[in-house]
Amino acid sequence: MTEKIAVIGMGQMGSAMAARLRESNLDVVGFDVNADQRARLEKEGFRMAASIAEALKERSVVLTSLPDPKAVSEAWLGAGGIVASAAKGALCIELSTIDPHTMRSVADAAHARGIAVVDCPVSGGPIEARSGKLILIAGGDEKDIARAEPILQRLGAEWKHTGGIGTAKAVKIVNNMMTMGNVLVAAEAFALGVAAGVEPQKLYDVLSVSGGRSHHFTKRFPNALKGDFSPGFKMELGEKDLALAIELGRTIRMPTPSASASRELYALALAEGFRGQDIVALLSMYQNWAGGPAK
Ligand code: NAD
Repeated sequence: MTEKIAVIGMGQMGSAMAARLRESNLDVVGFDVNADQRARLEKEGFRMAASIAEALKERSVVLTSLPDPKAVSEAWLGAGGIVASAAKGALCIELSTIDPHTMRSVADAAHARGIAVVDCPVSGGPIEARSGKLILIAGGDEKDIARAEPILQRLGAEWKHTGGIGTAKAVKIVNNMMTMGNVLVAAEAFALGVAAGVEPQKLYDVLSVSGGRSHHFTKRFPNALKGDFSPGFKMELGEKDLALAIELGRTIRMPTPSASASRELYALALAEGFRGQDIVALLSMYQNWAGGPAK
């Protein structure tokens, strides 16, 4: 493959995907708006640009992995942004979890300049990104997805085509609505079990093979039991995804009471100081309410 790649948004996911692509001997340049992040990644051996326009010079493929709809709109539509700077005929693959409306509006602006777009949120975290085991959810024209395939193949174990631009974002939002709810209920239940006198490891050993378990319970709770709340997926991103689900429900005029209740608890966790920590830190919040972590 001869395509040269730019990755815009070199956070947990973007930098892991860039590292994976670099390892496949692809020519990759990154850009992040955060200067400290750029300096840190340069020290780790990443080639970093100082602006989007510089990152996109002579690049035929652009990947974006950005925190929220506002960041995506700024990076794509802002002065010196992707739509203004990408070459005609370039392919842009948008990997963030954002709302379908923002996805369609940035894609419309890109299409108007002859830039191809794939709506491609991902399931799986930085570890799966680094090892090429993401699930990729792809929306857009068949021919654009086919062109993206050599890159998607390096990042993901599999990918699914969901329909037109915006459909993949909708699928990702409802997936994350389920994820955030699963982790929230698991944290509340686990803290209750411990407060009722069960030794945490014994509780985990039973729950991890029993009917109440979920993918995120068995993936994240072993870290929590070691007191490791360093982020794979940050609490503020969980809150953002629940807000996206609620907003999607409002647009469609469908009530989403469970997402609303969940969002309040993620917002509470942020207010209680868990910003920047993994979503499994919800367990700490509940343990504080139960009178502190297990002895
Ligand atoms: P992150 O906060 O670690 O990284 C986002 C990066 O984007 C930051 O380094 C930030 O400085 C940069 N950024 C913000 N605005 C920018 C701009 N205008 N131009 C360039 N860079 C900008 O977040 P993350 O965990 O890497 O997640 C990225 C996206 O992927 C989010 O939409 C998230 O919901 C989604 N996602 C994350 C995970 C996960 O497990 N972490 C999994 C699936 C999807």
